[in-house]
This record gives sequence, C-alpha cells and structure tokens, in this order.
Amino acid sequence: MVEAAFQRLEAQAGYETRPVQREMARFICERLESQSSGMVEAPTGVGKSLAALLPAIAYWLQEKKRIVVSTYTNVLAEQYWHKDLPLALSLFPNAPSVALAMGRSRYACIDAIRSAKFKRATPDLTRYLQEWSGLPHEGTETALSQFLRQKGVPAPLVRSVWEAVAVPPACRAKVCPYYHSCFYYEARRRAASAGIVVTSHAFVLTDAMVRAATNDEVSLLDDYDFLIVDEAHDLLDATASALEFSLDEGLVDTLIAHAAALSNQIDEALTSEKPPSGFIMSVQKQVEAFALRCREALRGVKMPPLPREGVAVRVAPAELAHQPALASAFRADLHAPVAQVVDALCAEISRLWRELEQTYRDFKAELTERQREAVEAIFVQFRYGFVQTHQNLSRLKEPTEGLSWVEPTERGWKACYEPLILADWLRERLWQRQPALLMSATLTVDRRFDFFVQQLGLETPHQLQLPPVFDYSRQCALYLPPLGAIPDPPQHAHAQGASAYYQRLAEEITALLRLTQGRALVLFASRHEMHEVYRRISPLPNVRIMIQGESSNADLSRQFREDVHSVLFGVRSFWTGFDAPGETLMNLILTRIPFEVPTTPLQRARQAWFEAQGANAFTAWSLPMAKQQMRQGFGRLIRRANDTGIVAILDPRMRTKPYGREILNNLPAGIPIIDSIDALKHWLNQQAKAP
Ligand code: SF4
Repeated sequence: MVEAAFQRLEAQAGYETRPVQREMARFICERLESQSSGMVEAPTGVGKSLAALLPAIAYWLQEKKRIVVSTYTNVLAEQYWHKDLPLALSLFPNAPSVALAMGRSRYACIDAIRSAKFKRATPDLTRYLQEWSGLPHEGTETALSQFLRQKGVPAPLVRSVWEAVAVPPACRAKVCPYYHSCFYYEARRRAASAGIVVTSHAFVLTDAMVRAATNDEVSLLDDYDFLIVDEAHDLLDATASALEFSLDEGLVDTLIAHAAALSNQIDEALTSEKPPSGFIMSVQKQVEAFALRCREALRGVKMPPLPREGVAVRVAPAELAHQPALASAFRADLHAPVAQVVDALCAEISRLWRELEQTYRDFKAELTERQREAVEAIFVQFRYGFVQTHQNLSRLKEPTEGLSWVEPTERGWKACYEPLILADWLRERLWQRQPALLMSATLTVDRRFDFFVQQLGLETPHQLQLPPVFDYSRQCALYLPPLGAIPDPPQHAHAQGASAYYQRLAEEITALLRLTQGRALVLFASRHEMHEVYRRISPLPNVRIMIQGESSNADLSRQFREDVHSVLFGVRSFWTGFDAPGETLMNLILTRIPFEVPTTPLQRARQAWFEAQGANAFTAWSLPMAKQQMRQGFGRLIRRANDTGIVAILDPRMRTKPYGREILNNLPAGIPIIDSIDALKHWLNQQAKAP
C-alpha cells in the first residue's frame, strides 16, 4: 500500500524520487508492524513528514489502530495539517478520519466573538469576525489572522483582536450556548476518535499529565496505539515546559478566576429553572471567602531580598544540595516560607471543594434532574484543574525528582519547580504506554543516538541514520573569522570587556550584512546580547533589520520571507524549525556557541546532578546540547536543492578550543572554510556566476 502511494506521489509533476525517503518509510512500516520503537535522523530534504505519514495512513487502513503524530509547535502542527497530511491522504484510495488538536488558547471562542466590542475607529472588525465565524475552518489563530490580513487589518490590530477572542483558560463549556459548535470542543471530540491525530508535543504531554492526575479517568486524546514524534530533539524542552510550575500572585489570580468561573457557571446553568433559594448564594459566598483567604495566604509570608538569579530551596535527591555546583546557591531556610504558602493554598483548595460538595448535598433534593446534571458536569469540568494545582503545589514543596527555587519578580517573589532529569517521566508516561517513532534532522551527537536515547529514556530503540540529501560542499561556505578578529565571548552580561565584545561583534555582522545586502538570519544565545548588538549595528540602505519580540514570531517569519533583503535577529526559537528557502536567506550568522552557563539554580542543580553521577556536566550535558543546537542553527540555511549561501560562526573558540573542532565534525562534511571577508565575497561572486 505504501509502495503504491509512493508511485502515485512520484507520478506527480515536479516530484523527484528520493531513495532515502523510501528507506525511511520502510523503517517506519517495520516499527508499526512489529509495534517496536525507533529513532530516525533524517537530514533536511529527505521529506520526513511524508515518509512518516504514508506508513501511518496505510497502517490505519489495514489495522484500524490509532496513531498520534506530534511536532514541536502549533505552527508546525498546522503545517502538517494544511500541507503534508492532505497530500498524503490524496495518495490513498480510502482515507482514515483525521483530526488536528491543539491547546485551547489556539482556538477562537464563539461566545467571545459574539460579545466582542471594538473602538469606533475600527467598525468593520465586528462584521469581519461574524463573517469569519460562519466560514468553514478549524477556528484557529492562524485561520483568523490570515482572514483579517486579507481584509487589510494591520498586524498589531490582528494581534489585539486575537487576544480579545481567544478561548479563555476556563469557560462555560457544557453550559455555553455555543458548546456544540465550539471550535475547541469540536477539535477535542474529533481528536478523541480520529484514526490519525496531528498535534503538538505540548498537547501530547498535557494529555499524559491529565491521565496521570485522574488515574486515566480523563484524557484529551483517548487511547492510541502508536506515537510519531517529529522534531524529537525538542521533546526535552517541551517536557520541561510542560512539567515546570510556579507559585506567585499570577497563580493565585488564576485560582481565584477559576473559582469565580465555576460560581458563574452554576449561576447561569441554574437560573433557566428556578433554583432553590440560598444555593447559588452559598456557592458565591464560599468562592468569595476562598479568594480572600488565598490572597491572605500569599501576603502573609515575607521573603527576604533575593539575588537576581534566585536560590534553590529543596532538591531531590537531597544530597545534591551539598555538591559544590549547587551548595552556594542553596538556602534551605527559605523552604519554610514557601511551604507555609503551599500548605495554606492546598488547605484552601481542599476546603473549597469540601464546602461546595457539602452545599450541593444540602440542596440536591431541591434541584431538578437537569439542574443536578448541570452542577455535576460543572464540578467534573473544574475539578481536574484544582486537583492538578494541588498536586503541583505539593511537588513544589517536596519535589520527588527535581528542584524548587525562589526568585525575585517585579511584584515580589515566585517559587518554581522543575524536574532535573526527564527520562524517567517520559518512560513511565509515554514510552511504556505505546511504541513510538522519534524523528528529527538532528537526533545524533557525534553521529550517535546515545545522548538522546539516554536523555529521553527510550530504551533500546531501533535506529536509522540517513545521509545528507544536499551537496553542502558546493551549496555553502563556512566563515570563521581569523584569530584575534573577535574576542572570546564574555561569561555573563556584566563581565569586563562585554561592551567591547558587543561592539566588535556588531562591526563584523555589519560587514557580513553588507556582503549579501541583508538576506540574513542572525542567531544569538541570549536576548541581552541580541539587543546589545542590535543597537550597535550600522544602518544599511534598503535593508530592514527586524528583531525577535517586535512582533509575533510567525509574523516576523512571514515578513522575513516576503522582504528578500530583510535581516532577522533571533534567539532560541529561531535556531530550530525556522524555514526560509530561496534567496531571502543567503547569510546565516551564529554569533556564539550556545553553551548553557550554569548561573540559575536549575542549571546549577543539573550540573550538581551530573557531578553526583561522577560525570562532567560540561561533556555530559552542555557540550552535546551545544553541538545539537549548532547543527539545528546551521540547518536553517540550506532548505532546498538549489539554495546557496554562507554560514558565519563568529565564536573564536571554534578555532582555539578542541570542542570547536568537535562541533565542526558534527556539521556536514566537505564544506569549504573561509577566513576573510574578501574571500567570502569572491566565493559569493563565483556562486552568482555558476550556471
Ligand atoms: S464552549 Fe467555551 S470556548 Fe467554546 S464558545 Fe463556549 S465559552 Fe467559548
């Protein structure tokens, strides 16, 4: 079946046969048929999305087993949904049911659209929104943004419209009059039954967390038989983000907002039929008292002045606190105030639910059948959020496998929790449930899968490493500035010599931008450094320089692709997944090797963890992560077989340190290395003349 699909694909105009794509598809077919896990490194150009989707569709058609395809971001998931999946489905005579599932904040709320009010200066917006909500689409931010842009609505206004109509964190759900046509709940319903579901890592992880918190009673995706993880190198980051938790005024505000939403929903659900006198009032009083006591619980605790990076207060395993890397950033005495707030909030959550349930029992006999059903549905809807917050707070107070720390904020302080090592959690919550196929263009370090196998906790997966598709030795040149041209990067933002370093970096970048008249992506390891260099860059005629943060990443990406001579300065999120083929990107500049410098309590704790294992944190963690990120960054330049351009790595340690050579060895072989701007100019001229 897969072979026939490939033959139909290759018969299409403009499609080239790619033996590596078929090899990858065969490998995935074997994993599906034997229900065994695997890892594939598929360099850019292999066509890995189709190599995975064709076996997945064929497998569902033969076995009727459900497959979830997950990728790093919602934007990438939508790319699968709008581009790769329709093409893959068109190659089969029959199609499985398919669904796109994303987090609630990615969908528009019909209730909010109906009640949205905008200033008189933009009277058409209301009409546009009404028109859009009646059109066929998934109701996503992307769909709305595209529609409004086509209507000529400026980008900043599109953003604020979206903020006004996005699905809120808690809503009326089943008692909402639009529940049965709601974009978000409709996507959830489809995701729970579709043969193939396309989603993001965050959604898969949230599903796993919901199942864990409810002993499998509640699930967002329902049971599935195989998981395909694209951009698998980003799964570590996604898991850390999903499991991190913080306690501050924002959390208390959210808790109170959820309690208020619960009370409002009960009020709205019951008033269509006369409710028993006193029931709604009792619920409201309990919620109001809960809000007051939660605020007091936070305000009642005083935290001494904290260093900017924060301090650790609890770690598991406990002996890590004595490791040199963490000891000086550890304040066991500050655990007591954190525990005091956690205990108070946990007690308030438990008390609120006890009181609500008691009130319901007291009035149950006076409620009609429909009213009872409505109240019970509302309780089910809200209970999970409170149970999860209770569990997270407990983990923050007594982490079982991670770190708790406190750090200063503008409004006071916040306490945070994050696991140190994610392999055990992933193994228990994902890999032991169903087999998985992990794929990425960069899943090996030093040409071996060992690092990611270990960090992701996937035991003895089958492995496939495919060769590069593009001719990098012809399509690109690597510029490493001569020794002495740029000083070593400063250790931190306020180190001596930092200012001179930023100045020199800005001069070198300006010279490189002049060479290609813009058309450049400049990637930094920190926001601070990016802004310092940005303000020192000399303006270039007809070259627009954009910087991450001035608009949404999706909007900046679009503008960069449309304006051929533009330049984009970016940090972490542009190192990976960013796709700008063609002449709009001919000059990729990586300003420094993105080593993790252990300054925050979490970074120090991770270093302590490796030290406690008898390993060197730099060689076991920082260096492999940096090698992988350098490969990802490098991969932004050549996206198609006819792309050409230069990659400049402006970190002198590429020449002076042994790990510089190791990083080079992780890049595609045979790339010419150039050490002067003139030689670079010559190389570009030669390329321009090439047939
Ligand atoms: S169910 Fe919730 S998200 Fe959906 S339209 Fe109603 S209020 Fe909005």
